[in-house]
Amino acid sequence: MALEITVHEQSCRGCELCIDICPTKVFTRDEEKRLCTVAHAEDCIACLSCTYICPSGAIEHRDIHLVKNFYRDEEFCRKMGRFL
Ligand code: SF4
Ligand code: SF4
Repeated sequence: MALEITVHEQSCRGCELCIDICPTKVFTRDEEKRLCTVAHAEDCIACLSCTYICPSGAIEHRDIHLVKNFYRDEEFCRKMGRFL
């Protein structure tokens, strides 16, 4: 099962803290709803900074792998190569 990230619309305040803190630009702003949404869940590196900083507890991750061996995980290295 692939990682799923959900932003609960009823909780999101549109503060954009998650957009600012995410190192891999997973989130984007929905101008119409004035909330943030998930644009690139596949780029998530499971740092959980967004969950930590969100003042509303609006961000939920499913099937996230909290312990990653970053330097030996080929899939992770491939993903991060795009941001270096
Ligand atoms: S940090 Fe939380 S409240 Fe702020 S925009 Fe992101 S999901 Fe919404
Ligand atoms: S866990 Fe980290 S990489 Fe994943 S969406 Fe949140 S801030 Fe971005």
